[in-house]
Amino acid sequence: MLNRTKEEVILLMLCGLSIPSILPFGIYRLIQKNWLMASVDISIVVGMLCLMVFVWRTRRIRAAGIAVTLFYSAGMLAAVAVKGPPIAYWVYPTMIASYFILQAGEAMLINCVSLTILIYILQPLMRTLDLASLVVTLILINLFSYIFSYRTSIQHKELNFQAENDFLTGVRNRRSFDRQMQQLCDEHAADMDVCLLVLDLDHFKNINDQFGHSVGDQVLVQFCALMRARIRTNDGLYRYGGEEFAVIAMGTESVAAARFAEELRGMVAQAELLTDYPVTVSIGVAQRLPGESADDWFRRADGMLYIAKLSGRNAVRVAE
Ligand code: GH3
Ligand code: MG
Ligand code: MG
Repeated sequence: MLNRTKEEVILLMLCGLSIPSILPFGIYRLIQKNWLMASVDISIVVGMLCLMVFVWRTRRIRAAGIAVTLFYSAGMLAAVAVKGPPIAYWVYPTMIASYFILQAGEAMLINCVSLTILIYILQPLMRTLDLASLVVTLILINLFSYIFSYRTSIQHKELNFQAENDFLTGVRNRRSFDRQMQQLCDEHAADMDVCLLVLDLDHFKNINDQFGHSVGDQVLVQFCALMRARIRTNDGLYRYGGEEFAVIAMGTESVAAARFAEELRGMVAQAELLTDYPVTVSIGVAQRLPGESADDWFRRADGMLYIAKLSGRNAVRVAE
């Protein structure tokens, strides 16, 4: 299970769990020579095995998730059609399982269709009152599961956002930066020009000392707003340190990146982020080299930033 995502593990476990829970019934029915029910049970088990292999090999969890749910639901309906009302208990775990695999809306949709077919199958076989209580309880477990799943997915998104974004400025944080750098230096990464710009506000400590920490915070917020307004959406702006930022410029080689960095530097100098006090930024630029590690790439850009600082700040330096 190493290197498997949460979603893959849940899907593999749900498929895997169905085997010990359904196979004994299949075997029991084979012994009883109940061929029809045995073939329904065995087909579900074989189908789940195939899906496990599919998920394990392709990692296409979305397609597999829909297939698993449709398969589970069809198997359950077939079992109810063959065996009648006693099998209806299986509808509960089947419907709840779909909320673990799919998004809340998708699960609800599939379960509504299943429920309609279920009513059609059971209607001639059950007393109206019994069928009504089955249907009402099924609607209730669907509503509860929907609310739970929907709420969980919202919380999941919020947590993800907080884990990947900086609390103060709203731009992406160090964790997000490291992940993106790693992805760009992955051996399977697309072979396009990418430049890294590292930006460090000049003498920021003096701003804090002179105006206070909260004014310093406001400068950081305004600086980010200024950068965001200029940076393309598929480029990323990251805060990887206190007053240290990075821009990853996709599809950009070093000459264009130098021009871009110069423009950003000029914008900050002109913006007067503090009245009657110069706020400036120094920028180091390095283009990604083929086969280079994320650390080496960052170190080259940071080295250029250091040279920009040495050369008097409010400057851009670009790696050869
Ligand atoms: P240099 O031009 O060499 O970069 O000088 P500097 O003063 O900007 O650099 P230094 O690394 O000495 O100081 C960085 C300062 O940034 C110190 C720290 O108090 C401040 N800082 C870091 N994070 C925050 C923050 O979130 N808010 C505020 N207001 N200040 C911060
Ligand atoms: Mg600084
Ligand atoms: Mg610094």
